[in-house]
Amino acid sequence: MEFTFCPLFSGSSGNCLLACADDTRVLVDAGVSVRAVLGELAALGVAPDALSGILVTHEHSDHIRSVGALSRRFNLPVYASEGTWQAMEDKVQGVALRNRRAFCAGQDFFVGGLGVQPFSIPHDAADPVGFCLHYAGRKVAVATDLGCLQAGWLQAVSGAHALLIESNHDPDMLARGPYPAALKRRIRGRRGHLANEECARALEQLLPTGLRGVMLGHLSGENNLPELAYEAAHRALSALGARVGEDVSLEVARRDRRSSLLTVA
Ligand SMILES: [Zn+2]
Ligand SMILES: [Zn+2]
Repeated sequence: MEFTFCPLFSGSSGNCLLACADDTRVLVDAGVSVRAVLGELAALGVAPDALSGILVTHEHSDHIRSVGALSRRFNLPVYASEGTWQAMEDKVQGVALRNRRAFCAGQDFFVGGLGVQPFSIPHDAADPVGFCLHYAGRKVAVATDLGCLQAGWLQAVSGAHALLIESNHDPDMLARGPYPAALKRRIRGRRGHLANEECARALEQLLPTGLRGVMLGHLSGENNLPELAYEAAHRALSALGARVGEDVSLEVARRDRRSSLLTVA
């Protein structure tokens, strides 16, 4: 029984994660170029036509850039909520009808041997979700583009053994940074992105539910530093008495290339 996951790219400029449960292999999002995805898959020894499908969180371009092209080229099923399908229809052209799969948040389904549990997240997209992935009694959660702390997604993610969670920005860097005021408001808003300290608060709630591996992801290139995200999470986990590196692993996912491969079972 092998259950692994690896963020191939994670950040405001593009997201793609590989999860493997024995011979079921899925991508969560494909928001970078086809070439970039294929390069990291090759480095991990995964043939693209051996993928079982692509799970899509929402229609923003940093999550869907190469979804259509990958599906077309390698005959891959694409799984998205009905609202996301409607919103991304014209951006992912060429997904054959047979490869179009729609789900509802809150309704579990299987891709091969992998249990998939989509859950709603507060974000300014049509019908955005995060995913919990279940295999061999283990649970991995992928939760990015989280506008704010909300009981719904915290409950869905709780009990995860490993987690990729958004730690998007440092509020001071965002306030001082070059973004236009409207965009700053959008990022800070309740349907925008999670700040480092908000992510740390989420980890405080999730650690006691069995969390053993944490990847901080979807960092902003302009409004955050990996050190700031790491320190906020480290402080929160340590304050609860967890020894980071022993009781729980903590890593900042890379924006521009693959991160460590995490083995869950
Ligand atoms: Zn988004
Ligand atoms: Zn995003």
